[in-house]
Amino acid sequence: MKQLAHRENRWMTDVNHRLAKTLVVASGSHTLFVLENLPNVTFNTDDLPKSLRNSHRSWSSFQLESFLTYKAQAIQSIVVKVNPAFTSQHCPKCGLVEKTNRHHDTHEYWCKQCQYRCNADRLGAMNIKMLGQEWLNGIKRPKIKKLTTIG
Ligand SMILES: [Zn+2]
Repeated sequence: MKQLAHRENRWMTDVNHRLAKTLVVASGSHTLFVLENLPNVTFNTDDLPKSLRNSHRSWSSFQLESFLTYKAQAIQSIVVKVNPAFTSQHCPKCGLVEKTNRHHDTHEYWCKQCQYRCNADRLGAMNIKMLGQEWLNGIKRPKIKKLTTIG
């Protein structure tokens, strides 16, 4: 088991190196990489033995972040982490924050107010990008504010 875990760790380290390198090469210099500040969730670890899942999740996401950070610095780019609150609930078109707009069964976001509709992962990415833009505009702790709700 110990040997298997060791092999698994080397595999994950290699994946993280290649992932960070691919992101940095594809994006080029002077890029702002925006990550969600999620301490416990990143990769799907379903294929790993149960005993390894939790520890693997946290060290691998921390490792990817650190690889990306130093590879980004080498090409005059930076990594920032943003508060993930409401990134899966915020409508980028009308600003509504509504939990039930997210449809887990179809993996889709569908705004009750303006009917904006898209893939749930895409919506998260759009909101994270928006938070990165707020960070660039000098808002040091960008956050989606829950302004409106549907009762
Ligand atoms: Zn909307």
